[in-house]
Amino acid sequence: KHNPLGDAQFLEDESTKIFARKVADHYSARTNQTLEQREASPIIHLKKLNNWIKSVLIQLYSKRGDAVLDLACGKGGDLIKWDKAKIGYYVGIDIAEGSIEDCRTRYNGDADQNQRRKKFTFPARLICADCYEVRLDKVLADDGPFDICSCQFALHYSWSTEARARRALANISALLRPGGILIGTMPDANVIIKKLREAEGLAFGNSVYWVRFDEEFSDKKFKSSSPFGIKYKFHLEDAVDCPEWIVPFQIFKSLAEEYDFELVFAKNSHEFVHEYMKKPDFVELMRRLGALGDGNQDQSTLSPDEWEVAYLYMSFVLRKRGQADKT
Ligand code: SAM
Repeated sequence: KHNPLGDAQFLEDESTKIFARKVADHYSARTNQTLEQREASPIIHLKKLNNWIKSVLIQLYSKRGDAVLDLACGKGGDLIKWDKAKIGYYVGIDIAEGSIEDCRTRYNGDADQNQRRKKFTFPARLICADCYEVRLDKVLADDGPFDICSCQFALHYSWSTEARARRALANISALLRPGGILIGTMPDANVIIKKLREAEGLAFGNSVYWVRFDEEFSDKKFKSSSPFGIKYKFHLEDAVDCPEWIVPFQIFKSLAEEYDFELVFAKNSHEFVHEYMKKPDFVELMRRLGALGDGNQDQSTLSPDEWEVAYLYMSFVLRKRGQADKT
């Protein structure tokens, strides 16, 4: 007998898979740039700022010898940061086949287009999988538990449905040891919704990015609808062009609590910069990365349009409840 609800479920699953594929294909197709191409990018200073934010999170929350789970690791852009943190083991997972291949090339120290070679001191395992669909505790049965999980610029891709958002959190929780840490960055829903409400229509942006919501959100109200599946299209020059989902932070926090996480902190990137640029070591790191001008504690090297993109993101740190074994 025809079951309309069953069909709806099926359709939802199918379209979710199509969107996950779109995201994977988008990232897979992004080839490695040469150093010259990278430096010529209209968002080069934003990229450097984001690297600084990730480095600060890693330096603050990782310890020598840690087992690291890098969820949605991409091309392995954070491998060097983890190497500097002297970790003991690394597992990187990403849905994009092309990115995992690039990550493997980088890890193996094969010369890339820039002839950069690097041997890493920690053993690593790299896997291509949909982290928001697959039960990772089964895939990684012999690898865990992990001390720290990092999910950079990627957790929002799990908010297309409740099932995927839950799978993401269940996976991370199952693989972290008690007291283990989750660090991440993702779009700041408060900022995006505020900008949408201030916009004339359903789109807003500047010379380096635009965000466009679907017609179904034309009332610009989200309170009555589900907190999952609030889709928009995100375009960032020389970086991103794919469907993304709003993650209402308070709901994310409550959902994470169901999976034994407690919030350590959550900060918009602007606030993050202002706070950690008070620390001399991180000012020096910023100078070395070339994100901001020498000694300047503001956005001076980023163009105003890049600085506005930084404002679209936030960083968060969660801790899994419980005490680490004292061994
Ligand atoms: N974390 C890396 C970094 O900071 O350089 C990559 C960030 S990139 C903006 C987002 C990454 O999320 C892409 O590599 C993409 O393939 C990955 N991703 C998106 N959906 C995913 C999923 N369902 N499972 C695993 N990876 C996913």
